Amino acid sequence: MSIDVDAAPDTSTLLADSVMSAELVRLLRSRVTSSERSGVTTGTAPFDGSELPFVYSSSEEDVEVAFRTARRRQPIWGALPVAERARIMLRFHDLVYSRRQQGLDIVQLETGKARGSAAEELGDVLITARYYARTAEKVLRSNTRRGAIPVLTATRVHHVPLGVVGIISPWNYPLTLAITDAIAALMAGNAVVLKPDTQTMFTALWVVEQMLEAGLPEGVLNVVSGEGPEVGPYVIDRADYVMFTGSTATGRKVAARCGERLIACSMELGGKNAMIVADDVNVERAARIAVAASFSNTGQLCISMERIYIHTDVYDEFISAFVRRTDALELGAGIGWGADIGSLISGRQLARVTEHVDDAVAQGARVLAGGRPRPDVGPYFYEPTILVDVTREMILSFTETFGPVVSVYRVDSVEEAIERANHTEYGLNASVVTSSTRRGKDIARQLDAGTVNVNEGYGAAWASVDAPMGGFRASGLGRRHGKEGLLKYTEIKNVAVQRVQGFTRPDGVSDKVWGEGLITSVAIMRRLGMK
Ligand code: NAD
Repeated sequence: MSIDVDAAPDTSTLLADSVMSAELVRLLRSRVTSSERSGVTTGTAPFDGSELPFVYSSSEEDVEVAFRTARRRQPIWGALPVAERARIMLRFHDLVYSRRQQGLDIVQLETGKARGSAAEELGDVLITARYYARTAEKVLRSNTRRGAIPVLTATRVHHVPLGVVGIISPWNYPLTLAITDAIAALMAGNAVVLKPDTQTMFTALWVVEQMLEAGLPEGVLNVVSGEGPEVGPYVIDRADYVMFTGSTATGRKVAARCGERLIACSMELGGKNAMIVADDVNVERAARIAVAASFSNTGQLCISMERIYIHTDVYDEFISAFVRRTDALELGAGIGWGADIGSLISGRQLARVTEHVDDAVAQGARVLAGGRPRPDVGPYFYEPTILVDVTREMILSFTETFGPVVSVYRVDSVEEAIERANHTEYGLNASVVTSSTRRGKDIARQLDAGTVNVNEGYGAAWASVDAPMGGFRASGLGRRHGKEGLLKYTEIKNVAVQRVQGFTRPDGVSDKVWGEGLITSVAIMRRLGMK
């Protein structure tokens, strides 16, 4: 929500006051690159609907200042030894860990999520900081490649920072998605301009503050603020690379704009992820996995499950365990541990979830669990919901709901489950539950998704940060995590040094002799079995 700066008193309310002191609010707010003339944005604390402290918006000129600063500082940062950058990342890791309760409080304040889901993101920040601190030096090291002419051509490949990376991040995992992509970009020697979602600015600013305290030089990581359709393009138009996480609809616009500028980008977008429950499962274990896979973070998780295909042989038993466990989930508003399920983030998200469920029910779907908003718990709460008899006409059968709603389908065979799981425009994440690891891997091979978790919903693949993560088809472009997630933030420079005699025709040799000689030497290389 955008509000007029002059009419914006600092009306942080009791809930925000209990989490952040006025001094912390001022400090974090001061980290936004803003001339304080472009108005402010604020959001609502989902637990009780109270107003969050405002953040100044950035104008186009402010975004320009952020990029100019970043561009000035990047060469110094990029020239630092990777080991020195790694030391800062490990100090950052330790600071985030030591201040974890404060971090979790701020995440809960702005998102209304259960503390367990906030802990998952904080853990992810620690894993990623440690991983790139410990691996980047080796991955970024220049390396020798085979030269064109053996011995005479010496070829080295260097990974050069791109310059300034623009990162646009969403509200659903606002701590980790604001900083983990920045960690990779920074480790590769780039400067960063980050534009988080307006709803979760303080979470992003808090984690950036830890990075600055850990020793990241001022001006290397800059934050701008404002509504996506307005401020997002200012960022894209100045960046050397754009890392975008958000909806597929917005991702298409962002990628088109990057295409116009001929800059590379990564798109981490939406999904309509499917789980397959095979006929050999322990149903209690399968139901436990399905609950976490469908309802973690109140279902506002790009890699959570919104469709489950269950083999008919275990269907009844699985459904009974799944419904029992779902009914037992505790909804709770408030900063702290204890609740299984938190709030949705906003009235907009609640309206979307309600619309999807109501549309399905109106067209004949049956509710096996949940199915109602819970204003008695908090303004944006919705019950974890299981639907059956979902058909192709219903919006939620093919559109991402991004809430605590899952549809279950009976299938006669695993082959049918695979075919139906793949019947989507998306391809982000998938899950297989089976008692046979071998069978799990075989099913995984046939699923069209960037990650497949066997006997887990999403955590195994996501937290394996040494392996790349991203989507097929409408779920995205490019990958985060692993060496792929680091090298994408570099240009590749191939330097080839020619010794003695190279490709230039020596004086006194005819073009025919030289040309024939070159071709024949190439043919000899094939005879010798060379690459
Ligand atoms: P969104 O696309 O509305 O917003 C994401 C970000 O883009 C925000 O910072 C927003 O301000 C900005 N933005 C909005 N319009 C823009 C524009 N025209 N130009 C530039 N930036 C713009 O997405 P959301 O609703 O905030 O997030 C939920 C979506 O994100 C879901 O679809 C979810 O699946 C997806 N998501 C994907 C991943 C992943 O890793 N694949 C992770 C988290 C969320």
